[in-house]
Amino acid sequence: MTGQRGRPKVAIVGAGFGGMECLRKLRNHPVEAHIYDRHNYHLFTPFLYQVATSLMQPADIAYPIHKATAKQPNGHFHHHEIASVDLDGKSVTTKEGRVDDFDYLVLALGMQPNFFGNDEIPKVAFPLGTMSHAIRLRNHILKCLEAAIHSEDRAEAERHLTFVVVGGGQTGSEFAGALAELSRQAVPGEYCELDPNLVRIVLVEGSDRLLHTMSPRTSRWARRHLESLGVEIRLGHLVKEATESVVTLDTGEQINANTLVWGAGVKPASLAEQLPGVVQEKGGRLRINDRLELVGHEGKGIYVIGDISSFTWKDEQLPAVATPAIQEGAHVAKNIAASVTHGSSAQTAFKYMDKGQMAAIGRWAAAAETGPIKLYGALGWWTWAVVHIYYLAGFRRRIGVMSGWFWSFFRQDRPIQVQLEEQLALEIPAEEGASDHVGTTRE
Ligand SMILES: Cc1cc2nc3c(=O)[nH]c(=O)nc-3n(C[C@H](O)[C@H](O)[C@H](O)COP(=O)(O)OP(=O)(O)OC[C@H]3O[C@@H](n4cnc5c(N)ncnc54)[C@H](O)[C@@H]3O)c2cc1C
Repeated sequence: MTGQRGRPKVAIVGAGFGGMECLRKLRNHPVEAHIYDRHNYHLFTPFLYQVATSLMQPADIAYPIHKATAKQPNGHFHHHEIASVDLDGKSVTTKEGRVDDFDYLVLALGMQPNFFGNDEIPKVAFPLGTMSHAIRLRNHILKCLEAAIHSEDRAEAERHLTFVVVGGGQTGSEFAGALAELSRQAVPGEYCELDPNLVRIVLVEGSDRLLHTMSPRTSRWARRHLESLGVEIRLGHLVKEATESVVTLDTGEQINANTLVWGAGVKPASLAEQLPGVVQEKGGRLRINDRLELVGHEGKGIYVIGDISSFTWKDEQLPAVATPAIQEGAHVAKNIAASVTHGSSAQTAFKYMDKGQMAAIGRWAAAAETGPIKLYGALGWWTWAVVHIYYLAGFRRRIGVMSGWFWSFFRQDRPIQVQLEEQLALEIPAEEGASDHVGTTRE
């Protein structure tokens, strides 16, 4: 069961932050690294909300995986969805039925939206976790603006212009801030027929504060800042029901809205749910040991990293953000290399380095916290921007994204408000001068 050149074969399923880092760190080791993903690009999720709000183009945040493997002699990309995994027989089966064996397996599958068993909400809600989600949501927002212009009466226009965002974590708060900026820029500037005062954004969060993985001070800042942008905040509330035109909260309050954006919950990708003999922890995440091996299957060379894994550090489960995924990806590569070269007892325990977290709320405003240091507003935004641009892969993308921000922020203009055909939008152009790293962090 060896790969090309008689070297052990590592199968990495998922080319997200964890999988790509693991691939890259295996570069100089005597293994063949095979990475699988259902998409042919690595997605820079921290900017997904900017695609959804017409601030960025899809290609700005999608990095072709073949570009990464082309630069890595022992790297191989398979554009396939993995339908099943045989943990004992050591093979993965693609959706098309191809069976590939492996010596080591790294599962880095990421999350999918969780609607907590509600059957009706998924039919009308707009989740924000993939590129398709972002393009669908962007098209929908632009269609709502259009529809509001042609509405027969004020109530209908209000319904088109009311956006309910569920989940006050990073995804929901960042999206609400960007949507508020979009409505402040685009409505008065380009949709002149519309009354900007009709735009209503309601952010609903079940807990008692926004950005609950960050400090309470940051939560307060985010709330104040979102409110200054006109976002209505409902803390301690849940969405109970939703139709295409009405969102009902647990208090019974009904909000007439054509848009429900779902940033409230995630659960491990479906392949992770099928694995036998695993231990599930908070959020359905899979328990791993300190070597990052899947608990229930230790000693078989099966590792689980990133969002789908549950690793306890300082008595708390690591958050489902990019930094743990990247660090775990690097550590698994190190353990596999040690195992191949010196035997499995040479593996070491994973140690997490907490680099802090960040969230951008609208134009020129972000919170960045690391240890006791907390930066807000413009200073926070510059810190956020520098870190994210650094981790965004590709020189051309970095320049494009920065110039897009500055154009849009200084000129108060969204030049890329076009409804996109999903397939066309997902064609990723070839790119020159791509950087080595693909990844981000909420540092
Ligand atoms: C909108 C949004 C904004 C975010 N913003 C931030 C942020 O600002 N900072 C931050 O640190 N974190 C952020 N996150 C969280 C961050 O994206 C995740 O923590 C990180 O991506 C986890 O990395 P991962 O490797 O575990 O999974 P992912 O990066 O999600 O990658 C999983 C990959 O697996 C692939 N896959 C899944 N199942 C299969 C299968 N069966 N076969 C083949 N391929 C499969 C998927 O296509 C995907 O490419 C954000 C997330 C979202 C959704």
